[in-house]
Amino acid sequence: MLHWPQWFNTKGDVRHTLMSFGFRLDDGWFDILWRLCDDLEPLVAEFEATDECQFEILQVKEKFGGLRIYVNDADDNIRLFIETAQLASSRTCEVCGQPGTMREGGWIKTLCDQHATAAAAQSSVENQVK
Ligand SMILES: [Zn+2]
Repeated sequence: MLHWPQWFNTKGDVRHTLMSFGFRLDDGWFDILWRLCDDLEPLVAEFEATDECQFEILQVKEKFGGLRIYVNDADDNIRLFIETAQLASSRTCEVCGQPGTMREGGWIKTLCDQHATAAAAQSSVENQVK
């Protein structure tokens, strides 16, 4: 995310931004996030110039099997791109980035067949330990 350091306020007050904890998601969605930042770059430049504000991504995390991106402020164009990225995550394996679908097993995650099998095996091992 070095291309967009000013968007990720890692030194901010943690009550304001959770970015200081890093991205709370697996590698499979990194490409989605990267592409989103790339697409947003001209839109954010325009938004910041028009509204005289500083665009910030406050938090990026997985919730209910999908990517969630929280920003401090945005216009409709920016929100549309963020929504599109969130939608793409619901069809992309969170672990490896291959096409995936939403799976449930005491948890909800978007996974490909291979990682769904691995996750199911792991959670059954964890259940045996408990
Ligand atoms: Zn996978």
